[in-house]
Amino acid sequence: MALLGGSFDPVHCGHLRCALELREQLGLAEVRLLPTARPPHRPAPELSPEQRSELVHLAIAGEPGLVCDDRELRRPGPSYTIDSLVELRGELGPGRSLLLAMGTDVLRGLAQWRRWRELLDFAHLVVVERAGHGAAAPDPVAHWLSRHETSDRAALRQSAQGLVLRVRLRPLAISATEIRAALASGRSVRYLLPEPVWSQIRQRRWYACEPASAAAASPGGN
Ligand code: ATP
Repeated sequence: MALLGGSFDPVHCGHLRCALELREQLGLAEVRLLPTARPPHRPAPELSPEQRSELVHLAIAGEPGLVCDDRELRRPGPSYTIDSLVELRGELGPGRSLLLAMGTDVLRGLAQWRRWRELLDFAHLVVVERAGHGAAAPDPVAHWLSRHETSDRAALRQSAQGLVLRVRLRPLAISATEIRAALASGRSVRYLLPEPVWSQIRQRRWYACEPASAAAASPGGN
């Protein structure tokens, strides 16, 4: 099983293709999207944890193998990834392989994460090249990664935790920041996220975007 944590503010096709391709490339039964409730190291997301999770559920509906894990919504206080890994390791038991996936952009701030070196005591790390971001991490993260790096994908299934694998997936230069900026300035984000997600955002006027009817009607159109 693999986890892809994030603020998903909102979830978009970059996240979804990443989850799907990880599942296929690494032969996993399940990839869980793990929305963070209160991210400690970045500004508070625009939507509430419940709203962001609702969009994730809409996005993955009907896609077997993609699951939304809401455990961080149920935990009070800041959402630390290490706490989720400890919980999941308790649920899976000591022998089962657990993967934590993250894009290369996340590596820049990893050394600020709580107990970051212990992540590998509970899971393998899968580093996904993110379009528009360099693959290199700053020290001490780069040094730590290189000490645990493998190119042997089978090894990730055969052991429970402790390895680092870099993967290249289809590069999709989509970010939630760009989507929020487009919505705020009235530009369309259609096709950057799944249609049910886009439709829900418009209906609820989240991110202060135009309601569905106004967005659909062209000014002075027929
Ligand atoms: P923001 O722009 O608000 O920072 P984001 O688009 O980076 O948001 P997050 O929710 O922060 O999305 O990302 C969750 C995880 O998904 C991270 O590990 C991130 O690297 C990865 N990710 C996000 N977008 C993509 C993408 N287009 N391709 C591959 N991985 C992605």
